[in-house]
Amino acid sequence: MVLISDYIVVRSRSGLEECISQESPLCPVCGKPLKYRDSRVRIYKSYNGRKHLLRIRRLKCGGKDGCGRLHNELPEFIIPYKHYASEIIENVIDGVSTPGDPTTEDYPCEKTMQRWAAWFSFYCFLFEITARCLRKQKLFHLRPIGKEGSSVLSVLRLEGTGWLSFLIRYIYNCGGRLPAGNPEAFFRRENFS
Ligand SMILES: [Zn+2]
Repeated sequence: MVLISDYIVVRSRSGLEECISQESPLCPVCGKPLKYRDSRVRIYKSYNGRKHLLRIRRLKCGGKDGCGRLHNELPEFIIPYKHYASEIIENVIDGVSTPGDPTTEDYPCEKTMQRWAAWFSFYCFLFEITARCLRKQKLFHLRPIGKEGSSVLSVLRLEGTGWLSFLIRYIYNCGGRLPAGNPEAFFRRENFS
């Protein structure tokens, strides 16, 4: 899986959306260039549970010395293994959208919101470390964060929308991943605990 930030989404008369990009992502496994292989349709949901069909590219790690893996190329407004657009998930995590909010009505439902909160709480430390690494490499600028040891993630969240997709893009493009489903169950299953 690779995530891109430079793209446009075009909607056809049939309602199918297509993600078009000139980005040339590198393989997150071996760092070699990726080449277009084929495309597939991915579903995502916007507010009120509205479903969208989005055509995305599937890329193959090519060349003689590449690892040969296939990667779905996602625009960064989609979080891998999540159905809702990242802005909606981020707003719930930040407390901007709540179960009583009329913009969300029944979708996402309260249970889904609780799952996202638990998911964020589980990966909070990973997001903090990623934010610190990126800041150290001067890949983004923050206003002064106060005393040494302050949470870079907290300051990044205060900077405005897009922090979640920004961090997840770097995690995936550097070879990391956030497993699908309940993270605690995943790590128990894989005997990481
Ligand atoms: Zn590769």
